Amino acid sequence: MNRKTKIVATLGPASDSPEVLARLFEAGVNVVRINFSHGSADDHRARVARVREAAADLGLPVAVLADLQGPKIRIESFVEGSVELENGQTFTLDTQLAADAGTVDQVAIHYPPLLEDVRAGSHLLINDGAISLAVDSVDDHRIVCTVEVGGTLSGRKGVNLRGGGLSAGGLTDKDAEDIRVAAELEADYLAVSFVRGAADMHAARRMVREAGGKARLCAKIERAEAIAALDEIIAASDAVMVARGDLGVEIGDPELPGVQKRIIAQAREMNRLVITATQMMESMIENPTPTRAEVLDVANATLDGTDAVMLSAETAVGRYPVQTVAAMSRICVGAEREATADRPASGLAAHFERTDEAIAMATMYTARHMHADAIIALTESGTTAMLMSRQDTHIPIFALTQYPVTERYLALCRNVFPVAFRPSELNGVVPVAEAVDCLKRRGELAAGDRVLLTKGDFTGPGGTNAMKIITVD
Ligand code: PGA
Ligand code: MN
Repeated sequence: MNRKTKIVATLGPASDSPEVLARLFEAGVNVVRINFSHGSADDHRARVARVREAAADLGLPVAVLADLQGPKIRIESFVEGSVELENGQTFTLDTQLAADAGTVDQVAIHYPPLLEDVRAGSHLLINDGAISLAVDSVDDHRIVCTVEVGGTLSGRKGVNLRGGGLSAGGLTDKDAEDIRVAAELEADYLAVSFVRGAADMHAARRMVREAGGKARLCAKIERAEAIAALDEIIAASDAVMVARGDLGVEIGDPELPGVQKRIIAQAREMNRLVITATQMMESMIENPTPTRAEVLDVANATLDGTDAVMLSAETAVGRYPVQTVAAMSRICVGAEREATADRPASGLAAHFERTDEAIAMATMYTARHMHADAIIALTESGTTAMLMSRQDTHIPIFALTQYPVTERYLALCRNVFPVAFRPSELNGVVPVAEAVDCLKRRGELAAGDRVLLTKGDFTGPGGTNAMKIITVD
């Protein structure tokens, strides 16, 4: 069964053994996320080496997404490890307190600009919103708060400001170093955290190129400011992530569903990829089956048209990583059978500057109206297949390419099935018959199938200029 919606799985201790990795890939993981917020460069090197090996053993194009930590503001730590905050008590954040001197009354936060970013009446959220503090007053080194929602708080937890507006931004020194590691590891995608605007993406792209990396860039939409700058961020990125963990804390629950739908629609409209992330199968960290709410969440993201759904702690530290992927995969496939997962073609009024885009759209229009059985893109860069996949359809798009890097790029792309294609002769002749044979051998095509194929006159990226209609014999 060809699942259109792709699965991104975050790796961690629960998924590090070669056996579990292989089972995750067999269960349907298309992209692995290497989270640079945890672990050393050597941990990431070892992890990526295991991923490449397991993927090669199974002959699967698994992409690597390197996710930068970004300028996340964190509290320091507590003498006792953790404290219990009671609703209504006073709790102070202090920029001058020693890092390990936190108590039930106060904790250090070594980020002085926070003093400028908050005022009486602000709401600070710690640990993905689990703890909420109302700011009462601010002086030259202390933010005095009343605990609105208390609970257990341990050290190094992240801090968000409700409504956004924390000035921390840009890429940190650690991010710069991690970009070099990601380039060395030949990461296929690089996720940039806490993006404020297009400038952050441009800066990241320069750093990736300087480090010799070829990664495509994914902007994590997780700050309130990023919503206001959504179009310019999408334009500056190859992919975006609906990073619901931090985003939900910053913009609040009531805004989140609409914003998710808007980000997905806008990314597709602008010919970019989109990942829906965080807490999708959260209860499966501890349980072997998902809740109904999680089933519906994954299904709804699929129906929204997301390219991929992402797992975080579920596969990084959860008890049931393989079962989680298998369950997520089944939910996606089921949701994709619904008619509403097949949106009618849009963009009929659009103007196409590029030949490959015009061919891609003509192909999708024709495929839909001829009820084609499959689409084949003979592609070098993968662009034609990606452009076609922005039109949602039940007709699978097989991207045949001789470049493993293109296979991995397209691993994230909804309804695109990358296939390694090494035609025997490439002396100027575009190997159409061989392409069809290749898919017949794999059982994807049968005699009588009607297929649309896109190709260029020459080999070389961006060269697609023709569509061919074929009946398989
Ligand atoms: P994170 O990003 O898991 O790196 O925090 C995703 C999110 O905030 O949802
Ligand atoms: Mn985040």
